[in-house]
Amino acid sequence: MKEIILIKLGEIVLKGLNRKNFEDTLLRTLRRRLSRIGSFQVRAAQSTIYVESMDEQADMDEAAGCVSRVFGIAAFARAAVAEKDLDQIKQTAVEYLRETMEDAGTFKVESKRSDKKFPYTSPEISMEIGECLLEAFPHLTVDVHHPDVVVTVEIRDFGAYIRSGLIRGAGGIPVGTGGKACVLISGGIDSPVAAYMMAKRGLELMAVHFASPPYTSEMAEQKVVELLQRVARYSGRMKMYTVPFTKIQEQIRENCQEDYFTLIMRRLMMEIAQRIAEEKGAQALITGESLGQVASQTIGAIGCTDAVCRMPVFRPLLGMDKEEIIEISRKIDTFSISIQPYEDCCTVFTPRHPRTRPVLAKVEAEQNKIDFLPLVEEAIANVKVREIQPSML
Ligand code: ATP
Ligand code: MG
Repeated sequence: MKEIILIKLGEIVLKGLNRKNFEDTLLRTLRRRLSRIGSFQVRAAQSTIYVESMDEQADMDEAAGCVSRVFGIAAFARAAVAEKDLDQIKQTAVEYLRETMEDAGTFKVESKRSDKKFPYTSPEISMEIGECLLEAFPHLTVDVHHPDVVVTVEIRDFGAYIRSGLIRGAGGIPVGTGGKACVLISGGIDSPVAAYMMAKRGLELMAVHFASPPYTSEMAEQKVVELLQRVARYSGRMKMYTVPFTKIQEQIRENCQEDYFTLIMRRLMMEIAQRIAEEKGAQALITGESLGQVASQTIGAIGCTDAVCRMPVFRPLLGMDKEEIIEISRKIDTFSISIQPYEDCCTVFTPRHPRTRPVLAKVEAEQNKIDFLPLVEEAIANVKVREIQPSML
């Protein structure tokens, strides 16, 4: 028996003139991601996208998992394919739905006939299939109001499809239709979640990570790679730029007043990230900051950080509690990696009493004790680039 995935288009149907662009991006994304699993045909017709495997071996569980992580999809279903012949449909329904029906007490059948050449009306199809299912599974009763299972039979151009419920998709907007943004990624819990949330709103991602060897280890960097590979299961592939940050941090420590260390460091991170972002065509930065979570995330500290930014900074976690952030990080499977204990460069020279109400002029004066520009340029010249692919898990 052949199984297929039927995808219902999400929010993108609302987008008027952009619809074609959104749909094309979604099709391209599905084709690229599914090609890593096997040979699939992906085509759109009648406001539905059809995903069909081209070889017998194809793992439909994996394909469905892959589809469930593509943004722009509100809902999808796995369905059995039958010839457009009532007896074939009945036989396929009994076989395909066996497990579901055995577990259910009540059901109803809904039919949609978009191929009007099919010689039965929708109510007739529902009646026929319903009777056949009652015969095959005599413990069942029909309940049209609150059934345990809704069986849907669709008669379409390419064939007949039999399915039970819809599966919820990843929602959002297809990645790439909203432009490109650069996430500042650490090994922590927050920034991978922030990256996921902005990709969900249609942004293609690139990532910048600051490493301070020997204070931070090779393992810490590898952890970030793994986090991004998990994020990429939703956002798609991306480039990761690792910036050597040791010299800059040492210069801050040696020359600036201690209570301003973190702020100056964060301003330099933003400066470097936006230079790389500009060069690579990104239009915004993304961070995992959450208001009031730590000293550098107060309203005043964020103001001092933003003062160096020439592009918008998206902080999707700003209004979220840690518990809410953790819930998402569990859902996208980054949590177990994030909690591995490796030092981040942010924590290597932390001041004992960081400023929570900094004055911008004072921060600037402290930062201007050193001409950081040559160090910024040197760090950028020594960036290491990696290609991040979605992890197969
Ligand atoms: P996270 O869990 O994302 O590490 P956090 O709560 O630990 O966040 P901070 O360490 O203050 O907060 O970092 C705030 C934000 O700065 C991070 O969410 C991330 O966007 C960015 N950031 C922190 N460290 C790095 C780093 N080593 N490289 C790139 N960006 C970083
Ligand atoms: Mg952190």
